[in-house]
Amino acid sequence: MADDDTHTTRTDQLHLQNPVSRYPTISPPEQHQPEPGRESELEPRADIGEFSYRGTGRLEARKALITGGDSGIGAAVAIAFAREGADVAITYLPDEEPDAARVARIITDSGRKAVTLPGDLTRADFCRDVVEQAAEQLGGLDILVNNAGKQVVATSLEELPDEQLEQTYQTNILAMFRTTRAALAHMPPGGTIINTTSIEAYMPAPTLIDYASTKAAINNFTKGLANQLACKGIRVNAVAPGPIWTPIQPTDGQPKEKLPEFGQSTPLGRAGQPTELAPAYVFLASPESSYVVGSTIHVNGGMPSP
Ligand code: NAD
Ligand code: MG
Repeated sequence: MADDDTHTTRTDQLHLQNPVSRYPTISPPEQHQPEPGRESELEPRADIGEFSYRGTGRLEARKALITGGDSGIGAAVAIAFAREGADVAITYLPDEEPDAARVARIITDSGRKAVTLPGDLTRADFCRDVVEQAAEQLGGLDILVNNAGKQVVATSLEELPDEQLEQTYQTNILAMFRTTRAALAHMPPGGTIINTTSIEAYMPAPTLIDYASTKAAINNFTKGLANQLACKGIRVNAVAPGPIWTPIQPTDGQPKEKLPEFGQSTPLGRAGQPTELAPAYVFLASPESSYVVGSTIHVNGGMPSP
């Protein structure tokens, strides 16, 4: 990773630390990137745990597929899974190749296999094919993290274009149905599915009604599917992040003028870093959470959530 990555921490997640000051209170300058955005162009850089996440063997020999694993939360989860002993396949959009290559290098440097699978999850055939490719190249599949997402602000319902509405639903919820359906053909008992939802499912921002409603759908899908699959020994759960500094934010995920105060209204007073999400996914993926089914872990700096 670049030497300019001044916001990364070298202290692992297992030491006593004050959560208020574990990471700096960032005030990102107003900035904009075209979708899907690049981690490498975020200012300040985000912390995906390359220098800090320490594994303790909790996912030894597991085989994981993570959608949107090139950047942000998905990248942090990919690194953590590899450090915990899993081989990891990541999906991403073709424009994100440099971010994906960096994550793949960190996975292989951690001693695990990395599989990179570019493509567009709004396409039903890609949702199916990507799972088949992951299972083939990993030699099986027992963890699926449905994490890819699209978030673009619209000031009012009247200004929400049909194209955005459809793409947000395609990416965030329809792709989740399709990839999960394909994955079930490969998942053994003990397999785990983890969906990335959002605080927006409970506290929808007036400018994100399309996005927020897909996250509410993800919550319902998580609980219903968990109920359906529990008897087969496959657990489904979700992680609900609060404001996390990732490329989704400066690609119109927030109004540009709101970026300087991003995350500062949380009780911890700062935005979260992607690596702070990773332990929740590791827990839900591992057999440690064997009695946790249809649940949501909130990782949001203390924002009130159900
Ligand atoms: P991110 O931009 O780093 O990751 C999102 C990824 O989604 C992209 O890297 C891209 O690979 C993938 N993606 C988007 N459209 C796609 C498409 N059509 N086909 C294939 N892949 C596509 O941002 P992130 O914040 O890490 O987002 C990860 C998840 O976290 C998303 O589901 C997002 O809704 C959720 N989330 C983020 C926050 C936050 O504050 N950052 C808060 C709550 C929930
Ligand atoms: Mg990305």
